[in-house]
Amino acid sequence: MSAKNEPTFRESVDLMFNRAVALMDLPPGLEEKIRVCNATYTVRFGVRLRGQIHTFVGYRSVHSEHMEPVKGGIRYSLAVHQDEVEALAALMTYKCALVEAPFGGSKGGLCVDPREWDEHEMEQITRRFAYELAKRDLIHPSQNVPAPDMGTGEREMAWIADQYRRMNTTDINGRACVTGKPINAGGIAGRTEATGRGVQYALQEFFRHSEDITASGLTGTLDGKRVVVQGLGNVGYHAAKFLQEEDGCRIIGIIERDGALYNEDGIDVEAVRAWITKHGGITGFPDASHSAEGAAVLEAECDILIPAALEGVINMENAKRIKAPLIIEAANGPVTAGADEILSQKGTVIIPDMYANAGGVTVSYFEWVKNLSHIRFGRMGRRQEEARHQLLVNELERLDNQLGDAWVITPDFKEKYLRGAGELELVRSGLDDTMRIAYQGMREVWHGREDVRDLRTAAYLVAIDKVASSYRALGL
Ligand code: NAD
Repeated sequence: MSAKNEPTFRESVDLMFNRAVALMDLPPGLEEKIRVCNATYTVRFGVRLRGQIHTFVGYRSVHSEHMEPVKGGIRYSLAVHQDEVEALAALMTYKCALVEAPFGGSKGGLCVDPREWDEHEMEQITRRFAYELAKRDLIHPSQNVPAPDMGTGEREMAWIADQYRRMNTTDINGRACVTGKPINAGGIAGRTEATGRGVQYALQEFFRHSEDITASGLTGTLDGKRVVVQGLGNVGYHAAKFLQEEDGCRIIGIIERDGALYNEDGIDVEAVRAWITKHGGITGFPDASHSAEGAAVLEAECDILIPAALEGVINMENAKRIKAPLIIEAANGPVTAGADEILSQKGTVIIPDMYANAGGVTVSYFEWVKNLSHIRFGRMGRRQEEARHQLLVNELERLDNQLGDAWVITPDFKEKYLRGAGELELVRSGLDDTMRIAYQGMREVWHGREDVRDLRTAAYLVAIDKVASSYRALGL
């Protein structure tokens, strides 16, 4: 249970926004214009299922249209409500500004538990929701482009894209009405894992800066760091998997709906994922201890804590017991404003959600551009790049023949150098670049200003400044 005076998610976002704008010199009125949510549409619709009509409630909120289209995921959960959707839409505005994705902020939600309905029923519900939004241009390639969030994935995005195209048969850009689609329905390589991949790139960038590592009290590199992750869904699973397989991190704790797994020697993420798919939860997984009180493992001794499930899990009640010196907010809003205060007094470094989970919207941006340009990335240049590399390899091989044993080209170099970049390599390169540059922008403000004591305030300052510049350019 959280403390009585715990701010709600929406209040947390507002408090953090206010803390940042107090350090800025915005013209009167502009601060309020940026903060408020422009519009929220509520839809109540009926779907005939299992012999009776069921009524569902959904939302699409548009926070800021300083750039269009606006962008943001659609969440399926029974906990969805207007305040939550509006807070998430506001975060989208700042997130897009921070990583320079040319979108305003939006978010959607539907009060539904996807586990209660079978696939065909979910399709009917999703299509009807999409119909309600599309007919009001709240799904539209140039006005409002949704994406996956909690409880939704590429399956739902494919239904939404198809529904939009049925309603707009002559729109040549119809596929760009939603991102996060499967590849065969106009998606892009690397989108499914993009948010988790972004979390990995964010941590890699953090560990490139010794001053930042020192600020957290950690030492060394990512290799061997002990990690606890909450939520082994799309974001948490990919982040944990990449950190384990590619960066040498030890995943010692995994928290899910039905408790937590703990093993100081490390837990095989892939094996847990397979277990969840088969058994519906982590309970019974053989190679770790299981505790029913999952949230307690957030307080375990570890180096990096990755909350990747839902908001408000680190709050005024448990913040003082959190031992991780570094928290990376893979989920949106996992740390409340009250907890943020307590943790920053303890010296905990928090890599904020606005930045940490921006990998999803970044690759969504690439997908949208791909859909509008009607061509796969790399299709024009790849073979030409390979042919030019072949010229160099030919010359090196000539030298190799002349110099005999004195100099040899390694087969590994040849294979890697000759391979031109396909779509996946280009997406990863674009995502890595985005995560590095955005981090550097934040840390400059963090270390460069006396009055900024954490990365979150720095992120808000950078983002709000960019949104304010867009409004000024629009003549506001
Ligand atoms: P998801 O539905 O794929 O996964 C969520 C996971 O959390 C599931 O495995 C679920 O079982 C688990 N979970 C739910 N309640 C829990 C609880 N009380 N304790 C522990 N685990 C719990 O969702 P996702 O897409 O991975 O999103 C997770 C978070 O990341 C959300 O905050 C979302 O807004 C944010 N996010 C997602 C994306 C994306 O591309 N999917 C992008 C940006 C941000």
